Amino acid sequence: MKALIPRCELKQHLQELFFKKWQNLWDNGNTGRSVHKVLKTVNLKPVFWTREEILFVTGYGPFPSLLNRFHLSDSDSCACGEVGDPIHYATSCPLTLSWRIRKPSTSLGSLWYQRVLDNPNSRKRIISMIKFIIDNENTMRL
Ligand SMILES: [Zn+2]
Repeated sequence: MKALIPRCELKQHLQELFFKKWQNLWDNGNTGRSVHKVLKTVNLKPVFWTREEILFVTGYGPFPSLLNRFHLSDSDSCACGEVGDPIHYATSCPLTLSWRIRKPSTSLGSLWYQRVLDNPNSRKRIISMIKFIIDNENTMRL
């Protein structure tokens, strides 16, 4: 088959269409919204997060809010009485005071996630905090 444009140009054009479609699906999808706050642009490069960082960003960890959402717990509350989600543990829970990070303003929520994961000190705090929550899962919820 004879093409009207060179093969490399066609390949590049198809790749651009693929990435535009993928980006559109990622921007307008219903799943992975917490990860979308951190990774806004699609690409083929791997992201080197630890297990703990993945649990924190996705919210799929031993958090009362998640356990309650999947009917694995009667309450979504942390032992301190607040809703037990990753942001609560990272920013305001008295049980994880040692690893506390400044709370994001409501308008800068997605930027906060990006800054936390770009900062090596914050990443260390998140990793230690998640390990602590995993080790003390039963005492961290009501
Ligand atoms: Zn708490």
